[in-house]
Order: sequence, then structure tokens, then C-alpha cells
Amino acid sequence: MKEQQAVNRQTYDQVMLPIYSPAEFIPVRGEGSRVWDQQGKEYIDFAGGIAVLALGHCHPALVTAVREQSEKLWHLSNIFTNEPALTLAQKLIEATFAERVFFANSGAEANEAAFKLARHYAITKHSPYKTKIIAFKQAFHGRTFFTVSVGGQAKYADGFGPKPADIIHVPFNDLEAVKAVIDEETCAVVLEPVQGEGGVTAATQEFMEGVRKLCDDNKALLVFDEVQSGMGRTGQLFSYMHYGVTPDILTTAKALGGGFPISAMLTTTEIAQAMGPGAHGTTYGGNPLACAVGNAAFDIINTKEVLDGVAKRRECFVAHLNKLNDKYGIFSEIRGMGLLIGAELDGKLQGRSKDILQACATEGLMMLSAGPNVLRFTPSLIISEAEINSGMAKLEQAISRLFS
Ligand SMILES: *Cc1c(COP(=O)(O)O)cnc(C)c1O
Repeated sequence: MKEQQAVNRQTYDQVMLPIYSPAEFIPVRGEGSRVWDQQGKEYIDFAGGIAVLALGHCHPALVTAVREQSEKLWHLSNIFTNEPALTLAQKLIEATFAERVFFANSGAEANEAAFKLARHYAITKHSPYKTKIIAFKQAFHGRTFFTVSVGGQAKYADGFGPKPADIIHVPFNDLEAVKAVIDEETCAVVLEPVQGEGGVTAATQEFMEGVRKLCDDNKALLVFDEVQSGMGRTGQLFSYMHYGVTPDILTTAKALGGGFPISAMLTTTEIAQAMGPGAHGTTYGGNPLACAVGNAAFDIINTKEVLDGVAKRRECFVAHLNKLNDKYGIFSEIRGMGLLIGAELDGKLQGRSKDILQACATEGLMMLSAGPNVLRFTPSLIISEAEINSGMAKLEQAISRLFS
């Protein structure tokens, strides 16, 4: 047997598909909003994966859920069902518009299911020509070929040959643009209520209400991708609840398992019935281990204490960011909802999110961007005030270093 060798950042370049350029340090342990690397250096985590770790690293309730379920039952095929999956489905239905649930393993898979369902529903219920999907520029829906094609960023979708047809992209928050292209051959309008990857842009109230009405008028389904904005991230369980605009299909993932891979697609009974046995499926989706963790995460996130705490923490972040801006003049806008916060870069730091992330890592802060010009904050929903203060002090040090 080959002896196991120590690994470091150079190993990445030797063994991995070169699709990422990870930071120079390798985290090995996390607790709440703190992380330690191979050298024992401590970091504050303002990223939480990418809006995944809603309860921070290694939350004791999630650790217990994994441990207990891992000693009972890990996996079953879809020839059987399991208790954790049924319980989690019940909870999601109880808390939302939904009446039916499909579990998968990632955001892209949940969206793939949503888009297939929307197409299948329109084709079987209305007409074989009702296949047009209206989506938005800058949108992000995942990396499978269908989801990357519905996403609105050419840099992710181009270079892989012919794409699925009948997908139209129009500017986000532009109701007239949707009105101009929607028709009776439209099967769905797909949007993120708060665009995450594309720059942290929230939909306007008028846009959400207008799109809902256009969908109704054209018998098109409204699909909300809440993979990033869902599970408490904005201070409501799902961000559609802020708007009072209900989708026909909703997808969620990232925070659903608090770091354990699981995603869900929610819909109504009527729409779900378009698909019969065999119409769609997955090997791992809805496995007992993932659903057990999902149940534990759900029980904590969907409480008044955690959801109400989001607004308070947002205020704290925004106050810090405003103070930084007064001193350095680096942000043109601070936006987003709840703990999905975007700070658009301006002045000397315009377009330099990468440099800032690197400087942050040196100071011991894990940060995110959303493109070259937006700093993105997606911390744990239960990050402490002391951790926010400490992380913000590190951010200021990183920024002052870029100024000197
Ligand atoms: C992250 C993300 C996805 C893709 O999720 P994966 O788990 O990476 O497949 C889809 N939609 C949105 C809005 C996301 O933020």
C-alpha cells in the first residue's frame, strides 16, 4: 500500500481539475464562525461556504444529527422511502405554499428538476409548443447544462456546444422587458428573488408582482430559485415571503443541510401530478443521512429567534460598512436583503474584489465576492456580535493595506 502523503496547496495544482483557484491556506477545522488552517492560524468566516453554513461550522445539533443517523441508516434506493425524508418534506410543506417536495443533492439538481417539471407540465397540460423559458441576465442557477443555459452569464454557458433551445434572457427588474417576450408559448419565468452570484441584487416589489401577473395571464409557471436566498438567509424562511408573491415552483439548497449536501424542489399537487413514476429521479436525493441533518437545521433556522436575529445582524454589518465607507470612500452601494449583503466597490478599489479577498485572507478573514466589483457577505445566521466586530476590524486592516 502507498503511504499517505501530506498535502498542501501545491497538491491542488497537481491532482485537481483546474476549475477553481483556491486560497493559499487549507482550512482544517471550524467552529461557529471561526476556522483554523493547517498552520493553526485563526480566521473569522464571513462567507459560510457560499451562504451554506447558516448555523456556522460544526453546530452541535447538526453534529448530533449526523452521528445518530449515521449509526442507523445511511442510504436506501428509491424503491424504498425513509422517515427523515418524509419528516423534512412535511416541515417544508407546513411552512410554505408547497404541497409536494422532491429532494436532490445540489442547487443545480433541484433547478434541473424544476425546469424539467415546468416544461413537462406545460407540454402535457397545454401544448407541445409551450416550451419557452424566460430568465434573466446575470442570473445563476447552477452548472448542469440546462441550468447554466437558463442562467444569464455567458462566461459560464459558452464553449460547450449547442445549448437547450427556447431560453430567453432579459434584464432583471425590467417588467417591460418581460412583457415584451412573454406569450402563450412561455412555460415558465425563472428568477432569483435576490440575485446572489450575479451581484447581490434584490427584485423590486413591483417587478415581483408584475411578473406574477404576467405568468398568470399567460398560463406560465413562476419559478423562484431560492437556493441562496432561502432557509432564513433574508430573515424570512424564504425570501418570497417578504414580497407576498407566491411561486408555483421553488428550489432551495445551500443552507438546507447546513453544510451537508441536500436540495429540494417545492411545488403544488396540481403541478406535481404532471410527472408520474419514472419521469425524473436521482440515486442519492432524499437519502436519510442528508435529510436527518436537514431536519435538525430546519428546526433551528425556522424559529423566531434565528429569523428575527438576521435583521439585527444585518444592521450591525451595514453600520460597519458605512463607517468604512465614510473613512475610505470605497462603496457606491450597500444592498441585498438580510444576511445576503453586497457592497459595490467604488473609487480606488473599483473592480478589485480579488485583491481584497486575498488581503482579507492574510488578515485572517474569509470573504466572498460576487464578480469583480461586489464584496459579498453571507455569514452564519447566528454569528455573534463579537465575531462581526472582529471580522470587520480585519476587513478594515485589509483595506487600509490596499491603500498604503
Ligand atoms: C449556488 C446556486 C445554485 C447552484 O447550486 P449548486 O449546489 O452549486 O448546484 C443555483 N442557484 C443559485 C441561486 C445559487 O446561488
